[in-house]
Amino acid sequence: MKKDDVIQLKIEDISSEGLGIGHQEGMAVFVKDTVIGDEITAKIIKMKKTYAFGRLMELLSPSPDRVEPVCPVARQCGGCQLQAMDYPAQLRFKENKVKNNLMRIGGFPEGVLERVMEPIIGMKNPFRYRNKAQFPIGTDREGRLVAGFYAGHTHCIIDNHDCVLGVKENEEILEIVLDHMRRCRIDAYDERTGRGLVRHVMIRCGYHTGQIMVCLVINGKKLPEESLLVQRLTRLPGMTSIVININRENTNVILGRENRLLWGREYMEDFIGDIKYQISPRSFYQVNPVQTEKLYGTVLEFAGLNGSETVWDLYCGIGTISLFLAKQAGKVYGVEIVPEAIADAKRNAAANGLGNVEFYVGKAEDVLPEKYRTEGIRADVIVIDPPRKGCQKPVLDTMVKMAPDRIVYVSCDSATLARDLAYLCGCGYELERVRATDMFPMGCHVETIVKLVRKSNRKSKLNTYVKLSLDMEDYYRIKNAEGDAKIE
Ligand code: SAH
Repeated sequence: MKKDDVIQLKIEDISSEGLGIGHQEGMAVFVKDTVIGDEITAKIIKMKKTYAFGRLMELLSPSPDRVEPVCPVARQCGGCQLQAMDYPAQLRFKENKVKNNLMRIGGFPEGVLERVMEPIIGMKNPFRYRNKAQFPIGTDREGRLVAGFYAGHTHCIIDNHDCVLGVKENEEILEIVLDHMRRCRIDAYDERTGRGLVRHVMIRCGYHTGQIMVCLVINGKKLPEESLLVQRLTRLPGMTSIVININRENTNVILGRENRLLWGREYMEDFIGDIKYQISPRSFYQVNPVQTEKLYGTVLEFAGLNGSETVWDLYCGIGTISLFLAKQAGKVYGVEIVPEAIADAKRNAAANGLGNVEFYVGKAEDVLPEKYRTEGIRADVIVIDPPRKGCQKPVLDTMVKMAPDRIVYVSCDSATLARDLAYLCGCGYELERVRATDMFPMGCHVETIVKLVRKSNRKSKLNTYVKLSLDMEDYYRIKNAEGDAKIE
């Protein structure tokens, strides 16, 4: 196999970035715009030592799971990867991905997984679920203003004001902002030259409250005719907060550090269960409110609280899980690296009258070992919800020393989850329940919730973490290579 060869391929899997995977001459071939079960011809566009990238040429026999995407720009847009796959097939794919990673990376036997894995929690309606949208603003070749989403792995904006994953309200808000820009001759920011003013429009909409926050990210301090824009936006029902975010850096990071309130409150509010959360422009907040309730409900169930337990919630963000658990626990401690998130967490605890929570700012891998060494902290239950890279070894080691009866692990990457679970299970814990939750229908990521129970204090001789981290290097190398490959 070499560059420009046209090969025949059967798609067997989907990569973590949403590319179809087939095999030829023992090598994995990644092909965009394909679905598991497709038989295709593909032209090889990039060859690596152990894998290759192909471009879809002809669909010889479409997968039975293929459907017509609902969105007209699904193929070009980098936002969705699985729209051409039937929703039940998406759920099967995600469940299998978790199972395969637990088997392949975690080394858990299939028999064990069949016993502990429960059916994935899917959505009844897998569209219009996102409570947050971030539209980049730009200019097309004819000089017209465009707003939408980036094409996969590029910074080309696909003009689309009504993403089918977002709320209906986004469209009208965008039209108002673009119209204001046209009338006042305000330029969109151009990241190549660093000139122009408006970079992004971020919109948040409360699922239960209907409160709307509009945050305009600009390369400057002020927008011409701000009061006119405010006048038009505040006619929309639900408008709660209009904020200017100042970002003058030449960076991919969307939001800058400084906010200026144009109108209304500095935050919007929403509920998860009966807890009310105030959310500032820069705070992390789960984007799928319907599934978040199910996710947190499952965490609560797995935690099995009776009202007296001491719980640690590591990687707690704005304390959403901490507060959700606090009503049924004796005491909850949260740890989070972002100081603003902890400020939100403290405010939210007070606003909900929850006095039994305490929050610490810092890295989990520093705070937990330090507190254990100096204060001998303990826990009945530890909940962890780390970013994609999973937990660092000092976090896992300290958890093992603290010896909680139960650990509830919430993960957004089942590969690092598998690595960490193998380590914990080598240190006296056992898998009791595993349940995937679909937080991102049409996207290829999957969230998993795991309940571990302590069986013994014995530590197995095998240092699984180190052994598996070699696997992980391989895994990330492939992932990064996928990102590098520009596929038009
Ligand atoms: N449990 C929260 C947030 C989960 S997202 C929720 O459900 O909303 C993961 C969080 O981990 C983010 O808020 C991120 O800022 C934080 N984080 C990332 N690295 C960290 C580290 N080393 N130590 C502590 N927190 C970290």
